[in-house]
Amino acid sequence: MSKQDLFDEIEAERDWLTDVSEQLWENPEVALQEHDSAALLQDALREEGFTVESGVAGIDTAFVARYGDDEPVVGTMGEFDALPGMSQAAKAEREPIAEGAPGHGCGHNLFGTGSLAGAVAVKRAIERGDAEGSVVYLGTPAEEVGAGKVYMIQDGAFDDVDAVVSWHPDWINAPNKGSCLAVDSFSIEFTGETAHAAAAPEAGRSALDGVQLLGTGIEYMREHVADAVRIHYVVTEGGQAANIVPEEAAMEVMVRAPDRDSVETVSDRVRDAAEGAALMSGTDVDVTQTTGMYGVLPNYALADSIRANMDAAEFPLTEEQEAFAAELKETLDDPSYAGVPPERRDAAADSAMFTDPIDAPDEDATGSYSTDSGDVSWTVPLGRFRAATWPAGTPAHSWQAVAAGKDLGTAAMLFAGKVVAGSLYDLLTDEELLAEARAEFEERKGDREYESPLPEDADPYELTDR
Ligand SMILES: [Zn+2]
Repeated sequence: MSKQDLFDEIEAERDWLTDVSEQLWENPEVALQEHDSAALLQDALREEGFTVESGVAGIDTAFVARYGDDEPVVGTMGEFDALPGMSQAAKAEREPIAEGAPGHGCGHNLFGTGSLAGAVAVKRAIERGDAEGSVVYLGTPAEEVGAGKVYMIQDGAFDDVDAVVSWHPDWINAPNKGSCLAVDSFSIEFTGETAHAAAAPEAGRSALDGVQLLGTGIEYMREHVADAVRIHYVVTEGGQAANIVPEEAAMEVMVRAPDRDSVETVSDRVRDAAEGAALMSGTDVDVTQTTGMYGVLPNYALADSIRANMDAAEFPLTEEQEAFAAELKETLDDPSYAGVPPERRDAAADSAMFTDPIDAPDEDATGSYSTDSGDVSWTVPLGRFRAATWPAGTPAHSWQAVAAGKDLGTAAMLFAGKVVAGSLYDLLTDEELLAEARAEFEERKGDREYESPLPEDADPYELTDR
């Protein structure tokens, strides 16, 4: 069997895959409420002959679909949650379908379906006897509120998987070789004594004082942390009226750094500062960790295999799609081409869709974002790439990204499916590649064993209450 046969398999399913992706786009569901979306993908996998385990890690919409009993086990991940308030028609002008309703501003309808395409093509290769091993599709919900995958890891969903190849919509076709920031998030609540602020202030203990003192503590702390550490906070509750001493006040704090150890050290200092603020203000404090994630461990062996598959797979953009992309691109206010190397920026600026595969633009770089894929990359060798879903220069979480997600983005979805399929097939048929990916994973991990960054009693459903 040739690589082209694998790609043709996906092209032959173009109508079916487009229909799945379109159904997800038409019915956008936000994090942890992706019931119809998860069901649609699970049904498709079941019908194809995968065994599906749903409700993984106590999350209704998390699932693992598996085909095969042999080793090695290769996997891909599909996200499918939408963003609140991002409703938008598939038009080159701002026009919500339903004001305030969710929309697929991050292209996860395509993400979930592209990975489905890849898993199905590999499954059929195994079924025909063209490859030996098993393939899993990990349905990973709640990416937009973080940590869905962390719960799935905790539950052992990745335990027997040897390597994972995954992607994300973007406006370039490139593998990832970069890392990103590890993070901890906290919800911190102070409780004081309410009193009339003029008549009996001595009887009151202001919860807002606790919040402000912790904020001040964090400001002083900034000077004494490593340069790369970031601490952000907002006040989520500050009292009812100026003449009432606030009984309740709360804040949300995030700590980020390139390495997990720094995050944990600074997080401990934030916890101490919260205790100090409570002592100073005569209040009680309750610190709840709401999320925790690792930074990404890149895997160059997998990234290089992905890059080779990008050159082999064609990008099936139609003339109509290209014309719509040009129209949509016109609406971008100030497109940034910083995502590609300087010598390619003019080419990107001149194209409606920038579909030429490029080398990883983020080699050795640390992106200023966090993702629960970081935890996956510490659990199993993970290859990641981006596919040109949106017109060149389109930011994620924009109405243009939603507009592109219905029809235009299906070209990237099919392309991504081929690249996932090609890379997983390589892993099943080329022992050396898998060994290399594993060796690199072990080397980059070093002595640090992955430990879940979430507290033991963490509840995934608390994520949506924030
Ligand atoms: Zn996303």
